[in-house]
Amino acid sequence: MQSHEQPVLRDLVLVGGGHSHVVALRMLAMRPEPGLRITLVCTDIDTPYSGMLPGYIAGHYRFDEVHIDLGRLAVFAGARFIHGEVTGLDRANQRVLLKGRPAIPYDLLSINTGSTPNVRQVDGAQAHAVPVKPIAHFNQRWLDLLERVRGLRDRFTVAVVGGGAGGVELALSMQYRLRQELQVLGKSPDLLQFVLLTAGDTILPTHNPGVRARFAHVLKERRVAVHTRAEVSQVSPGCLTTQDGRTFDADETMWVTQAGGPAWLQGTGLALDEHGFVCVNEYLQTPDDPKIFAAGDVASFLPRPLEKAGVFAVRMGRPLARNLRRALRGQPLQPYRPQKHWLALISTGDRHAVASRGPIGFAGDWVWRWKDHIDRHFMRKFTELPAMAPASPSQAAPASGLVLNAEESRQAISAIAMRCGGCGAKVGASILSRALGNLQPVQRDDVLIGLHAPDDAAVVRVPPGMAMVHTVDFFRSFIDDPYLFGQVAANHALGDIFAMGAEPQSATAIATVPPGLEAKVEDLLLQMMTGAVEVLNAAGCSLVGGHTGEGRELALGFAVNGLIDERMTGVMRKGGMRPGDVLLLTKPIGTGTLFAAHARHAAKGRWIDAALKSMVLSNQAGAQILREHGATACTDLTGFGLLGHLVEMTRPSGVDAELQLGALPLLDGAVDCVKAGIVSSLQPANVRLRRALRNAVAFVDDQRYPLLFDPQTAGGLLASVPADRAADCVRALQAAGYPHTAAIGRISAASDALEPVVLSA
Ligand SMILES: Cc1cc2nc3c(=O)[nH]c(=O)nc-3n(C[C@H](O)[C@H](O)[C@H](O)COP(=O)(O)OP(=O)(O)OC[C@H]3O[C@@H](n4cnc5c(N)ncnc54)[C@H](O)[C@@H]3O)c2cc1C
Repeated sequence: MQSHEQPVLRDLVLVGGGHSHVVALRMLAMRPEPGLRITLVCTDIDTPYSGMLPGYIAGHYRFDEVHIDLGRLAVFAGARFIHGEVTGLDRANQRVLLKGRPAIPYDLLSINTGSTPNVRQVDGAQAHAVPVKPIAHFNQRWLDLLERVRGLRDRFTVAVVGGGAGGVELALSMQYRLRQELQVLGKSPDLLQFVLLTAGDTILPTHNPGVRARFAHVLKERRVAVHTRAEVSQVSPGCLTTQDGRTFDADETMWVTQAGGPAWLQGTGLALDEHGFVCVNEYLQTPDDPKIFAAGDVASFLPRPLEKAGVFAVRMGRPLARNLRRALRGQPLQPYRPQKHWLALISTGDRHAVASRGPIGFAGDWVWRWKDHIDRHFMRKFTELPAMAPASPSQAAPASGLVLNAEESRQAISAIAMRCGGCGAKVGASILSRALGNLQPVQRDDVLIGLHAPDDAAVVRVPPGMAMVHTVDFFRSFIDDPYLFGQVAANHALGDIFAMGAEPQSATAIATVPPGLEAKVEDLLLQMMTGAVEVLNAAGCSLVGGHTGEGRELALGFAVNGLIDERMTGVMRKGGMRPGDVLLLTKPIGTGTLFAAHARHAAKGRWIDAALKSMVLSNQAGAQILREHGATACTDLTGFGLLGHLVEMTRPSGVDAELQLGALPLLDGAVDCVKAGIVSSLQPANVRLRRALRNAVAFVDDQRYPLLFDPQTAGGLLASVPADRAADCVRALQAAGYPHTAAIGRISAASDALEPVVLSA
């Protein structure tokens, strides 16, 4: 893992979380390269292990048993994970272009994005067929199909287009599972028809005749109608048409045909083969660009054609990791030598499998058990990640073997050496102006001097009849993605302004960034401030200035100014709660425990992704809706947790509150994390507030109880609303993009009890 004392010297970007990259990332993690930052970018958070996919479809495995959690693997590897889509490369500037966020720099790049079934080339296929990749979409369509089939009354035909191993396995697995579902529901499995169409002369063209004959027999026995030389030329709702004019019923069409490379590769200038896959030499390196490697289905191996199969993608992982490391160290690369014959274990859906290797083939239930053993063994490498010794912050930077030029070496030594304090700890002016020069803060008429004409300080006018609202927030980065961190930090800082019912006007930033190579520091600042400015701009808040210094850790905060009517109309204070009001919460809670678990690689990647999405969701529209519904009091949830903030409201309001545990909106995984005993380091301080609870004893064993004290980052709004408007308000908030909004309690008149809050189930 990257030590805090070691500046980032080189960026390795892994594009796509396919089989080769998960193997390579794990290998690089086991022997970390000092000074190397690895960034994994993938459209999936959970990437499927292809060997077990048919078993998942057949119902033998659960989702998590067949998917590798890329978020968790990245934390284990000390790598940065970006849940995003690569749309191209800017090779001249060595940057990876991403959809909807700033490009990221690379010193070395590797591509493992798999293949894309060719739905575009066939009329109607894109609209009416379900391509097996990307797998996240396929999985959703598969779950939808399961639901449809459960409700079947009439005959239903599933067509699978593609006669390779993937198509055959998928057809048999789906048939097995769907028939089982119907049987369990007491319906006739014979309502289901299966048809498999392939353009070729035979199914399984790359396997030996014995294996083909076995599958032909199984398919016949299972009454899957196989049509060879049936090239589908049109897909219409309920019907497929082949090139020779035949038509086939198809209520659902699964597309598992020969695949091609992704469209974005076309614009990279890299050499591609006739199917659009990127050419690589024996070192898995592109012949045109030594800084770019590729592996798995997306790579076209120039020394000899390889089957597009997960087996090869997995096998390429090790030589890829080795060559990436050697390239970074300036050492000679080593050739990858793929095996001539490879073992394919193809399942028939019913816990039976056929082995195929060159001219050899055999089958049996035991082959399935053998395959199951091999597959589970592979997956354990990614689910049971070994504990790694954390780097001690005081540890001296280990020597780096990465190749640097003389100027980079000088900058690296200077970054590690003792740095000046005081003004000397400022980030260099040229880095700042390059990084911040492209930012475009929103321009407002009331900002007289801002970043568009920088001076010693900003000058902002307070419009007549308005009063100013001031707030400040600052915190250390809790994630490895500076762009997202910038978004969260800005959103968090704006939260107080919205909670007051004010309009954000201007913000000044304060940031600390770890020293390092100038180019790396510049990019870090650019990413972080781009994220922040996007959020500020969306809120109409102009960034008017700031200060950036060097520090051990990345941190960012904002002083935000807002405007409000000077007569204080529309101000939502903490102290306005009235007996009878309903208590609303607009976002789910649990960020504290989830990020504590994330740091220990104990949180699932999809939990963290959902928590981050919640954190970047602005409270602006929510505050407006609350005001429109007559909210009597409001605050934004931050470090003190739900109970702490509630008590901050009940006290000045002179009321009591009932909090319904069962109604609390919770982030996915929050309960799992507190159940595992993982809480934020701020939790113990918050727990002291339990004395505000009248009946805590009755609920301490409830698994949601610890979440009352969980500190939130960029949390939702907690507000009291008159009872007769509460239901409407919840509906309006849910419709406006706060789907988790819930009524979580009621306000009552102050009692004689010392404790203001009563819990209920
Ligand atoms: C039903 C079925 C069953 C199969 N069974 C087997 C089997 O038993 N054995 C076998 O060897 N092979 C099997 N295969 C083939 C196997 O799935 C592929 O060969 C294998 O998945 C290729 O692996 P990969 O690492 O190249 O890419 P993938 O596994 O496809 O992974 C690529 C990853 O990159 C991501 N990605 C794509 N584009 C982008 C982008 N622009 N930006 C960021 N991320 C991106 C994808 O979302 C994905 O997570 C099967 C295929 C199918 C369809």
